[in-house]
Amino acid sequence: MSRQVLTILGATGSIGQSTLDVVARHPDRYEVFALSAYRQVSKLAELCRRFHPQCAVVAGATEAAALRELLADLPAIEVMHGPLALEQIASAPEVTTVMAAIVGAAGLGASLAAARTGKRVLLANKEALVMAGELFMTALRQSGGVLLPIDSEHNAVFQSLPAGFDYGLQKCGVTKIILTASGGPFRQASRDSLAQVTPEQACAHPNWVMGRKISVDCATLMNKGLEVIEASRIFGVGADRIDVLIHPESMIHSMVQYEDGSVLAELGNPDMRTPIAQALAYPERIGSGVAPLDLVRVGCLTFEAPDFVRFPCLQLAYDALRSGGSAPATLNAANEEAVAAFLDGRVRFDRIAGLVADVLAALPTSPLGSLDEVLAADRAARALTQRLLASTQMSLA
Ligand code: NAD
Ligand code: MG
Repeated sequence: MSRQVLTILGATGSIGQSTLDVVARHPDRYEVFALSAYRQVSKLAELCRRFHPQCAVVAGATEAAALRELLADLPAIEVMHGPLALEQIASAPEVTTVMAAIVGAAGLGASLAAARTGKRVLLANKEALVMAGELFMTALRQSGGVLLPIDSEHNAVFQSLPAGFDYGLQKCGVTKIILTASGGPFRQASRDSLAQVTPEQACAHPNWVMGRKISVDCATLMNKGLEVIEASRIFGVGADRIDVLIHPESMIHSMVQYEDGSVLAELGNPDMRTPIAQALAYPERIGSGVAPLDLVRVGCLTFEAPDFVRFPCLQLAYDALRSGGSAPATLNAANEEAVAAFLDGRVRFDRIAGLVADVLAALPTSPLGSLDEVLAADRAARALTQRLLASTQMSLA
């Protein structure tokens, strides 16, 4: 395969670091064109010294000045800042492949820029697809770009489908997509105990090491809800054909059920370097540094049905997918605001789902035909969540 030229959006995050770990194992195959971070300037400076990108992008002018100072002896690296610079490095003509690993709605513009310019888009930033799935998939089709899912579940589904399934499953005999979920740190917690949960407890995932926002989403099962919507977008199937199965060992990363009774799955140790290496090399295979799966040591794999009562976020996401239009974008924005407030100690863990439900109930669902409409739905949901948060705090004071 010809050499790939990479932009890594969110290079300092958990997915970004795992990507660079795989890339460093194959210097003959991958060249780093650009890296981005938000405020983690010194971490990005270290990565620039190791990977010598042509461009580095940070949040604002202050961070850019700090990065330039840290890289004063490497003047060839162009330092830029802001959302437009992210779009530039995602769509630069020399780039073949974009790892979209910014967390949250902040990643939408750059992920979409990569889709519009025909890149191989390695998509970890699930929130972009939840908000603007149709725009995103249309942009890819029009530009001739390719989406390779990084989320371990969607990557497992991708690997369990016939080659060339062309993002439409009707003709492949698929009856169900079964997304597995670890159940998160509170799988066995009582409903009452969820009121006392701290951010540290919520971020202590049993099987995966991840950024804080997605860790909280795993604890509420909103992550699985976002993934149900993500699967619907990528694979072109409705909510009725997507099931969630709790599998605490996280060894089976998801499955596809066919009409003849066959179920195909992808298994492996829970380490994101596997889906990252699969997508980087696709359709070839490369080493990822992940230890081989030892099923004798694992011993047994267990399964449970999800509990929609203790974890209402999962139901909210299914409902938003069925409502369509702006509902998934509203769900995502309300969740981002509620999770940030929880991580800041401004709201209780067990209020996250209630806030999202209240915002969804209050805002009408409207069709989303353009990026402006997506962004307007996102802004309206954030503003309402903040108002609800403020009134909760006033009633507690
Ligand atoms: P993280 O918090 O570890 O890293 C996020 C990255 O985005 C960092 O580089 C940060 O600097 C950057 N960033 C944050 N806010 C930004 C903003 N406003 N503008 C520009 N850049 C910003 O997150 P993560 O765990 O690596 O997750 C990244 C994405 O991948 C998320 O969408 C997550 O849902 C998805 N994902 C992560 C995992 C995982 O194992 N970590 C698995 C599946 C999917
Ligand atoms: Mg996942």
